[in-house]
Amino acid sequence: MRPSGTTASTLETAASPLRSTLWHEPPMLRPHAPSLMNWLRITVDRQLCAALAGREAALGWSNAPSLANRHLSNAQFAIALRTRLHTSLPQCRGQCQHRRHDGSICGADLDVFGFHARCCAFGGWLVRRHDAACAVLGDWCQDLGCQLEVGQKPYGEVLVPWAAPARPEARMDLVIRVPGVASPFYVDLTVASALSVEALRGGSAVRDGAAAGIAARGKIRDYPNCNVTPFVVEDHRRLGEDALRLIRLIAPTDLAERSRAIRRLHQSLGATLQRCAADAVIAATTARPSG
Ligand SMILES: [Zn+2]
Repeated sequence: MRPSGTTASTLETAASPLRSTLWHEPPMLRPHAPSLMNWLRITVDRQLCAALAGREAALGWSNAPSLANRHLSNAQFAIALRTRLHTSLPQCRGQCQHRRHDGSICGADLDVFGFHARCCAFGGWLVRRHDAACAVLGDWCQDLGCQLEVGQKPYGEVLVPWAAPARPEARMDLVIRVPGVASPFYVDLTVASALSVEALRGGSAVRDGAAAGIAARGKIRDYPNCNVTPFVVEDHRRLGEDALRLIRLIAPTDLAERSRAIRRLHQSLGATLQRCAADAVIAATTARPSG
């Protein structure tokens, strides 16, 4: 289900930098994360950003060149790279320029790390990010032979009135029929932040995947009458357990093809999330004439 204003408020972030969640280092490197981060902050300066910008969406740190949906513009890449390294965004000053429905600006103070700009409930940026991720997942499933039930849009929001007794308007982002599996998968996709207040309370600073787990349990509670598959992706691309199970089920069984397919989805999802988050920052920091 699309992010609502309430959901957006849960994405408000804490101020303290959490290197273990921003940097998904192997456990043996974790004690060295602070020194690694300091080294990278010194090394990754504007020249390096510029040199890398516009190439591939290397924000997954493993992407190979090619598909258009993995491309980031120079501006998007510079923002995404700085975000990934938890380095301040020089353009994040003053008030948020995202527009409300009535045309007025949000006006909240921007923080230098772009937390508010990425999580602001106004301007429709959270919905764009969510819908873009749904489209990536839907395309991937169809490429691998699955059928999608079509809702109001190409990828989604299929009405499932029996899913929640109190919510006959309940909708699923994707209803996926996997070859050889009798029942369809009712997939609700959500993008979770490991830095949200709720995630931090749940241990996301010390436990990998905690944010995704919290979001997944919330989705299951939301739809008591439906065997929902929460497809949770943390905003730095880590996937939740239910999402991983679904991906492993759909991916080809041939080992080489399987590896390529799973890697392709990881890369496309990662690039899409980084691109949408960067666009939200650009919009929040670009003053435009009203009307
Ligand atoms: Zn705002």
